[in-house]
Order: sequence, then structure tokens, then C-alpha cells
Amino acid sequence: MLNLECQVDILINNQEVLAENYAEIHDPGKLTDVVGRVAVGTAEDVDKAVQAAHKAFLDWRKTDIKERIEKISAAVKVVQDSMGDLVPLLVREHGGMLWEAQTDFGIGMATLEYYAGIGENFVKTEFIEDDSSWVSIEKKAKGVIGAIVPWNMPVCLTMMKVGPALVTGNTMVIKPSPTAPLAISILLKRIAAVLPDGVINVVHGDAGVGVALTRHPLVKKIAFTGGTETGAQVNGNAASFFKAVTLELGGNDPAIILDDVNPVDIVPNLLKGVYTRSGQICFAVKRIYVQEKMVDKFFNTMCDIVNEYKVGHGLEEGASFGPLNNNKQYNLVKAMIENTKNSGAVVRELGSKLNPEGWDNGYFLLPHVVKDEAHFSRIVSCEQFGPIIPIIPYKTVEQAIEYANETEYGLCSSVWSSDIQRALAIGQQIEAGSTFINNHSFESLSLGVPFGGVKNSGMGRELAGEPTLSAYIDYHTMRYLK
Ligand code: NAD
Repeated sequence: MLNLECQVDILINNQEVLAENYAEIHDPGKLTDVVGRVAVGTAEDVDKAVQAAHKAFLDWRKTDIKERIEKISAAVKVVQDSMGDLVPLLVREHGGMLWEAQTDFGIGMATLEYYAGIGENFVKTEFIEDDSSWVSIEKKAKGVIGAIVPWNMPVCLTMMKVGPALVTGNTMVIKPSPTAPLAISILLKRIAAVLPDGVINVVHGDAGVGVALTRHPLVKKIAFTGGTETGAQVNGNAASFFKAVTLELGGNDPAIILDDVNPVDIVPNLLKGVYTRSGQICFAVKRIYVQEKMVDKFFNTMCDIVNEYKVGHGLEEGASFGPLNNNKQYNLVKAMIENTKNSGAVVRELGSKLNPEGWDNGYFLLPHVVKDEAHFSRIVSCEQFGPIIPIIPYKTVEQAIEYANETEYGLCSSVWSSDIQRALAIGQQIEAGSTFINNHSFESLSLGVPFGGVKNSGMGRELAGEPTLSAYIDYHTMRYLK
């Protein structure tokens, strides 16, 4: 497995289409290794894929819901059966840990299964009848859905769109990220094979392909996950064609630590949300507010635990987290660490290199913990997306809430306290899509519970029942008077 290279092509109508150009995908934890090659698509490929998806839509929307669900259930099995060969491939192209790639597949599979389970009830036509009138409310599929996904959790972020889109009768053109396209594309090819031709199509590329998809007149909705700046462009392009959008964007999640906790009791749990995937998770904890009297104890406790971390390749035994995914992100986080060191804040570089000889052959960074005096410093106000976390003191709970809300972002957040009622009362005042109490990690997500942001963190909700599914349909009503 380790030395095999794979190639992923464009997929239209269940046929692999060769591209003129291919880009190499290197292992971010072993840059000299080429993991595979990915097609570089064009606007013409997007048009062909959308035409195929549109043609398939005309039948798929009329296919009986039970048959659609059977086919989605077959896709669930495909995800399960694919974990053996694709999980290690995902680790090698992405840079995460083996367990993180398994989690990506696991959440993806559970999401598909969830929508297969609730779809039939949702799509049922509703009738309202009284003495004077008869009304039907039908839920009609929109048509071709354009799905654009990032590199950080490619499988589950794609399946969060595939499940609701297909069960409601839509077809899809999917654009994976150019920096983690291999495992998800092979998986999508296998899923497409258990569906009618053209129901799922895949076009590779970067912004040019994304723009062509967003502006194509036959695409009726864009389901996008990625950075806030890109989301703004997607939103603008989609709006000029009156397309629906779901936008899952960046986050700068605050964790507020109340003065009634013992740091030793909560830090291990809190850290699950900080350095997992090297901090490259939209809803990772990105700033920690601690009551000023507790800051030193909290900082020291955190440093002691983080200092035990070993940074290495995801397939190596004993690594706590892996490299950053790509050169751009690596340089950005490295520069941020340097700026923070120069700002006068206390910055501790911790942990150790699992394999010092291979260190320079990957986008590796050690974990950093920052004791920051300034709430407005760059490391606090931006989305760092890397293994560095600032701890900021607050005086009063009111000030902590004010700090938490003083941001353009509003994805998730958490409050940590030994008093659940006190934490809930504070949580209610936080401007975010979700506030978790005494947790903030993958364990905080739950199928059926809406996930998504407010402010510049997005529009719409994924993982939910009605709030997610209703964004993939249009209501059609008929009424006659008696
Ligand atoms: P990105 O915005 O650079 O890219 C996301 C996708 O958009 C890629 O497939 C890219 O090729 C495509 N794209 C780029 N320019 C485009 C354009 N003009 N029009 C259409 N598509 C375009 O994001 P990234 O670096 O791949 O991912 C990291 C970001 O994603 C972080 O900000 C992270 O917080 C966010 N994210 C959010 C969630 C969430 O659920 N809220 C989940 C995961 C990641």
C-alpha cells in the first residue's frame, strides 16, 4: 500500500474522463513521496458534468423514495467496505492521524445512514383539508446540486451534502479540494457505481472550476464548506443566479473557563478540541479565556500535558498529531508563530519530534501555547488553523462573554464549569451556532443536531433533519376551494 501511487480522473456519467493535465499529490508528512495524481479539470468539464447530472435528475427525482433509500443504503456499505484501503490513503494525502481519518469515514458513513433513515418521512406530501379548501404541500427536489469541499475532513464534509441531496431527489456535481482529492474521489467513484449513471459526478480543480460550477445556470444550489473569504465569493456568484446556498465557513471558537473548575480536571478534555488534526478543524478551540487569578495554574497545567505530545507521521506509532496539510497553511501558521513571539506574549514551544530525521521532509510544527495579555492580538482575532493556542485572561464573566462575541466569526464555542446551570446561562449569551458545555471536540457533534455558524461563519445548517433537508427542496403547493 505505502508505495503505490494512484490517479483520480474526472467522473461524468459513471465514466472516468481523462484530463489534459494532472497535479501530483505529495504526502505532507513525507514530501518526497508522491501519493497520487489528480486531474485538473476545466469549465468545459464542469459543463459536461452538470449536463449529465441534469439529465440524470429527470429520472432520479421520479424514482420511488424507497428505491432511492435502498441505493443510499448500498452507498453506506460502500463507505464501510472502503475504509480498509482508503483510510491509510487519506492519512498519506492529508497528514492526519489514522484515528482521525477513521473518524472522517465513520462520521461520513453515519451521516449517509442517518439521511437514508429520515428521508422517507421528510419527503411525504402533506395535505390540509377543511370545510372550505383542499391543500397539498409537496417537497420537490431542486435539481443539480454543486458541492464544493475543503481538505480538512473531506469524507464527512462531502457525505453531509450527498445524504440530504440524494434522498430528496437531487443529483450532484462534486468538487473536492485540490490538496486532499484522492481518497474521497475513489470513494465517490465507488458510490456512483451503485447509483444510476449521472447521479454523482466529480470534477477536480481549484477556484476556476469552483467558479464555473457556482455560476452554471443548471446548478440550482451550492453546498459549500471552506474558508470565509471563499464563501463570500461563492455567495456573490450564486446570488447573481438566484441559487440557494449552504455555507459552512471558518471559525474562531472561544472556550470560556469559569473560576469554579480545577484545570487538572478539564484540560485533558479541552485539549481534544485544540490540537486534533494539528488544529485544522473549523470548530477547533481557537482561543481560551481564563479567569485572571487562574491563568498561571491553567497555563502551567496545559503546558505540562502538551509537552508530552509527539509530532509525527499519521502512520507512525506514537504520533499525537501530524503535519499541516499544505505549504500555504504551513507558511501562514509559521509566520503567525513568529509574529506572536515578537509581540511580547509568552510563547512556549512544546512537545517533541517523533522522527527528527524526517522532520524537514514534512510540514511539521510543534505545539505552541501562548499566554497572551492582549485580547485583540492577531493570534486571538484570526482563525489560526494550526497547532498554536492563545490563553487570554478575563476579569469578570461579563468581560469573558464580551470577548467571546467580539469576533466576525460565530461557529461553535464552549463553557467549562462545575456548575452546569451557570454554564448554560452563560452559553445562552454567546453568538454562535453551537455552545458545548464541558466538551468541544468531535464528541460534541450529534446527528440530528443542527451544525453551522452565525455571522461570517456561515448560512444554513448541516447534520440536522428538517433544517438541512428543507434547504435541498422547493415547496410546491396546490389548493382548490370547495
Ligand atoms: P478554501 O476556502 O480555500 O477552499 C474550499 C474549497 O473551495 C476548495 O475545494 C477550493 O478549491 C474551492 N474554491 C476556492 N476558490 C473558490 C471560488 N472562488 N469559488 C468556488 N470554489 C472555490 O478552504 P480550505 O483551505 O480548503 O479549508 C479550510 C477552511 O475551511 C477553513 O477556514 C475552515 O474553517 C473551513 N471549514 C469550515 C467548516 C464548517 O463546517 N464550517 C468545515 C471544515 C472547514
